[in-house]
Amino acid sequence: MYLKDDLDKKKYKNIWVIAELDNNSLNSVTLELLGEANKLAKSIKCEIWCIVFGYNLEKIIDSLKKYKVDVVLVVDDPDLNYFIDELYSNVLIDLIKKYRPEIVLAPATCRGRSYIPRVATLIETGLTADCTKLTIDPDTGNLLQTRPAFGGNLIATVQTNNHRPQMATVRPYVMKKVLEDLNYKKRIINEKVNPTLKHNIKRVIEVVKDKKMRIKLTESHFIIAGGRGVKGKEGFEILKKLALLLGGAVGATRSAVDLGWIPYEHQIGQTGLTVQSKVYIACGISGQIQHLVGIQNCDCIIAINTDKEAPIMKIADIAIVGNLFEIIPEIIKELEKKYI
Ligand code: FAD
Repeated sequence: MYLKDDLDKKKYKNIWVIAELDNNSLNSVTLELLGEANKLAKSIKCEIWCIVFGYNLEKIIDSLKKYKVDVVLVVDDPDLNYFIDELYSNVLIDLIKKYRPEIVLAPATCRGRSYIPRVATLIETGLTADCTKLTIDPDTGNLLQTRPAFGGNLIATVQTNNHRPQMATVRPYVMKKVLEDLNYKKRIINEKVNPTLKHNIKRVIEVVKDKKMRIKLTESHFIIAGGRGVKGKEGFEILKKLALLLGGAVGATRSAVDLGWIPYEHQIGQTGLTVQSKVYIACGISGQIQHLVGIQNCDCIIAINTDKEAPIMKIADIAIVGNLFEIIPEIIKELEKKYI
């Protein structure tokens, strides 16, 4: 609708990272996208812009000072205090039309998933959701957007050949965070919301936090995850005991969740959370691709399985062949001897 007739690729420049804020600070996925943008910018030699929407953004702008970003594009407006998909879309479309970025990277979070497809549709460009890898094609300079496809059984690499900007979303905890660079100079551009963009927009009156979402699986250094091999709710009690001793959290496969042994908030994998713990202990988990995509960035994977041929045993850093109901209580006993 807006950019379709204007396909001179040379007019589109720079990589944009759409920031996302949690409790008035930059969330982890924003820093991961900035890290990725820095990597890509080396190949196409362009500027990195961080786009920040919200209200009272001084603290955010200040926190961006320590990262390698060339331009911080700020839209500070009381109506942007709460996320509203139509308004956020309208504002982003306006900015894209004005500045013409070559690449737009956004978080594949609830918010990103809600408004980024709308933006891509309205400007009639392509969007690859939930990318796990981004690189630049050395021949065409196009962004190569890699993501699992067909239930994770295939890995697809997508290119946006004929439209601009090239848009991709990335799940949290998949990419590495940007490193700090205190001396990096940046420009700040302040933009205002065009009042016509606010017509007939819904308003958020209050945000009520879901009390159930207290488990900090995505922030845990230790995750003890269980699958069908845990055999039932009682089996998960043993994993919880180990998690408590290690100061970690309990994860699960979709099978365990579907069987009603543990709530969905614990599910890890393609249709659950992506985690990045230092240690991931997989107990009675076979290691199907849909589960593995959620743990591929964990530093150390320890698998406990009775079947030495299970796929997880091939990718594990430490593979323990044995019955989890004998091994986990032994580990608990040793830890209790040491720490209690
Ligand atoms: P199983 O594959 O049945 O494995 C159980 C394992 O336990 C076996 O390896 C067995 O040897 C071992 N075991 C049994 N007893 C013991 C014991 N006493 N001690 C030690 N080991 C023992 N799955 C996810 O996890 N997350 C997702 O997000 C997800 N999304 C999906 C999306 C789609 C579109 C589809 C089609 C599937 C998805 N799945 C997902 C399901 C996935 O394909 C697998 O079915 C699931 O991960 C298998 O779970 P599991 O390892 O617990 O069970």
